[in-house]
Amino acid sequence: MSVVVQKYGGSSLGGVARLNAVAARIALTRQRTERVVVVVSAMGDTTDELIALAHQLDDDPPSREMDMLLSTGETVTAPLLAMALHARGVPAVSLTGMQAGIRTSGAHRSARITDIVPQRVIEQLSTGRVVIVAGFQGATEQLDVTTLGRGGSDTTAVALAVALQAHECEIYTDVAGIHSADPRLVADARPIGLLGYDEMLEMAAAGATVMHPRAVEIGEAYSMPIRVRSAFGDGPGTLIRRHQPMEDRPKVRGIAHETDVAKVTLLGVPDRPGIAAAVFGPLGESHVNVDIIVQNVSHSGHTDLSFTVAESDLNRAQPVLDRIAADVGADGVDADRGIAKVTVVGAGILGTPGVCARIFETLAGELINIRMISTGEIRVTCIIDRDRVADAVRALHRAFELELL
Ligand code: ASP
Ligand code: MG
Repeated sequence: MSVVVQKYGGSSLGGVARLNAVAARIALTRQRTERVVVVVSAMGDTTDELIALAHQLDDDPPSREMDMLLSTGETVTAPLLAMALHARGVPAVSLTGMQAGIRTSGAHRSARITDIVPQRVIEQLSTGRVVIVAGFQGATEQLDVTTLGRGGSDTTAVALAVALQAHECEIYTDVAGIHSADPRLVADARPIGLLGYDEMLEMAAAGATVMHPRAVEIGEAYSMPIRVRSAFGDGPGTLIRRHQPMEDRPKVRGIAHETDVAKVTLLGVPDRPGIAAAVFGPLGESHVNVDIIVQNVSHSGHTDLSFTVAESDLNRAQPVLDRIAADVGADGVDADRGIAKVTVVGAGILGTPGVCARIFETLAGELINIRMISTGEIRVTCIIDRDRVADAVRALHRAFELELL
């Protein structure tokens, strides 16, 4: 008998009315399928509020204690939802991550699931109960509570779906699926019907925040189809799974964008072996993520090296950059804030004649200056000024006719 795993996000669960609405949906699912497992997030902004509370007491709270604290958000939701189901006459039981057999590494606040021993879940399912599992949390071998990193309930859900051999993992959220562009920028953006795991990962890396990338990686590793859909409507949402035969698929699937971007240029860097390592090594050690890197053609033994970082990391990166510039003998460091990244995603686009040209013509038509370009097998990313990002996304969405998908 097949198992259905559903995950409900915090925005679908805040408050009594929403808990009841979710319970009603689960009750309907239960009429179709006998075995239903539900993974829940903390309600509303609970996790943010708990983090803020902790920081009022301690600037640098011990991560073990943070996990004890943050896990409580999900631990509250699970029994409340079980009660809402019970009140409707649907038998249900709540389990913590530990009780559900979610074993993790000891890396507090970003623990990895090492194994799932879902005995308890299976037992409860066979007694006919809906099993509600607190997402985002697990426990180490020593039974210390851990959390999986922000957005980690998605990871719990997909991993449980794999462990229970579910045929699909449903992620219920406050949007109707993964959209062809951010609906806040593009009025006629549409939920994408079908998306490959690799396309979803590129969309996520490029700024689409609906699905947690780690959950998608688990889905890909175990070929678990993931359906992202609205908790408030009945649309089919987006199905993320292995590629279908691609001949008749449109090549461009979506336009993602990211606005927390700054561009850094090291000026007049000596052009010799070991320089890139000397630059990016220390940045990595300081946990500054570097994204797009462009090294210019060298003139008289010197070159400019440009790359992007998150603007929110720039203050932290600045002293490291000054040190690097001095160490490698660069002429100086330039940092441009107010940059954005626009990414066109679709399997096979780099090998499709005309796609790149269309992207660049479209941006040119809007008089948008491209400051850097980076390509991957299934994406093209342009770095532009942040104040033009909405125009860029809208124009590209129109140019590739994504509203007709
Ligand atoms: N509540 C956690 C967070 O906000 C986990 C999740 O919602 O997936 O990050
Ligand atoms: Mg989430």
